[in-house]
Amino acid sequence: MSNLVAIVGRPNVGKSTLFNRLTQSRQAIVTDEAGTTRDRLYGKVQWNGQEFSLIDTGGWVVNSEDVMEDEINKQVDIAIKEANVVLFVVDVMNGLTDLDSSVADILRKSGKPVVIVSNKSDNYSIGYQSAEFYSLGLGDPYAISAINGSGTGDLLDRVVSLFSKETPEDELEDIPKFAVVGRPNVGKSSIINALLDEKRNIVTDIAGTTRDSIYTRYDKFNMNFYLIDTAGIRKKGKVTEDMEYFSVIRSIRAIEEADVCILMVDATRGIESQDLNIFSILQKNRKGLVVLVNKWDLVEDKTNTAVQMFENAIRERLAPFVDFPIIFGSALTKQRILKVMDVAKEVYQNRKRKIPTSKLNEVLLPLIERTPPPANKGKYIKIKYITQLPNTAVPTFVFFCNLPQWVKEPYKRFLENRMRENWSFTGTPINVFFREK
Ligand code: GDP
Ligand code: GDP
Repeated sequence: MSNLVAIVGRPNVGKSTLFNRLTQSRQAIVTDEAGTTRDRLYGKVQWNGQEFSLIDTGGWVVNSEDVMEDEINKQVDIAIKEANVVLFVVDVMNGLTDLDSSVADILRKSGKPVVIVSNKSDNYSIGYQSAEFYSLGLGDPYAISAINGSGTGDLLDRVVSLFSKETPEDELEDIPKFAVVGRPNVGKSSIINALLDEKRNIVTDIAGTTRDSIYTRYDKFNMNFYLIDTAGIRKKGKVTEDMEYFSVIRSIRAIEEADVCILMVDATRGIESQDLNIFSILQKNRKGLVVLVNKWDLVEDKTNTAVQMFENAIRERLAPFVDFPIIFGSALTKQRILKVMDVAKEVYQNRKRKIPTSKLNEVLLPLIERTPPPANKGKYIKIKYITQLPNTAVPTFVFFCNLPQWVKEPYKRFLENRMRENWSFTGTPINVFFREK
């Protein structure tokens, strides 16, 4: 089970600055991400060999018309429901406010582990004033400066210490884990019902009702697999922005636990920002992807040209990752829904693909010889051999060479593309590293 930490607090206390500070190191490693705003909302943090997910709930609130208090209550609500640990950020320069106290009341009642982050403690003299936050009744305030980074080490130690110790040891079998994800009303329950001919639709009138992700084991379509179900965010009638917001956060755990995600998009709407938010979570976790364009029955123009244009538009939005399957289907008419499972299985196999060292070298070294990495300051980069690392979740390849630090992103992409041409990695990210030999 992965740990999820949520940042809450009034506007301007420094939530997004803290988010950036804590996720920085990771984002430097994962270089293939577009630097768009959505990257600010969900990230991974590594600390002392532990990894956890961090969400800045402030960044997710889409309804800016809301009065401040409502907005914060929404953040706090989702944080309490979804996170393992809540970081409650307050501003030492501003001091304690009524709003801080009312948020603290809610957090205290929830019984969730909470850490008070007394931000903007840029120096010792101001840091002393953090003591006033003791009165919130949530334990020791951690005086930090999100801007200069001081105090964040102690804060992270504290956060990690609050994670539950007993990691429910993998009782799951080593078979594919699939998750169906997508915005509300895209057809997730419909496709699951259609595929598994079961009425397992959970309908409730309360938006944001949550339930733990549930693994259901199936033996169907000639395979054994788990389906990770995130039902529980159902509301009759109009889908509000709030529901969208809840549903994206709800999908975090399902994505983190899946091998391959079936991302459903609505044929009548195309890809919109919430679809991209979900995709971004998927990408940060390096998961397998199948895109299902659902409600294809409602689209009139089904010519090849129309399909091609739709496909191109999707790949453009999800670039630079473009090598993934797209299926046009309908949960209602059941058109191509079996194909979805076949393709998800293929993606799973692609993720498990092992290329023997001899094959890698036989195929790639001549290609590299013909198009070597560009020389840097008159020095030549020589790639000597390539090997795949064993036992990695994502296919990972190491290129041994003399000057690994000088291999630039475009050449890395060139190699990745050649590998994708020679072996099927459709739907899965692959990692390419350079090491000195
Ligand atoms: P959010 O609305 O809670 O996400 O707050 P932001 O992260 O956008 O920060 C609000 C303002 O506070 C910005 O001008 C930040 O530069 C500033 N800020 C954030 N953290 C610190 C800090 O540790 N020290 C100081 N002095 N300013 C900070
Ligand atoms: P969820 O919120 O993602 O689980 O979406 P649902 O499965 O509840 O579907 C939302 C609505 O879209 C329901 O009224 C479905 O009947 C309808 N729907 C789902 N899939 C299709 C489809 O392929 N074609 C059409 N025309 N309607 C669909």
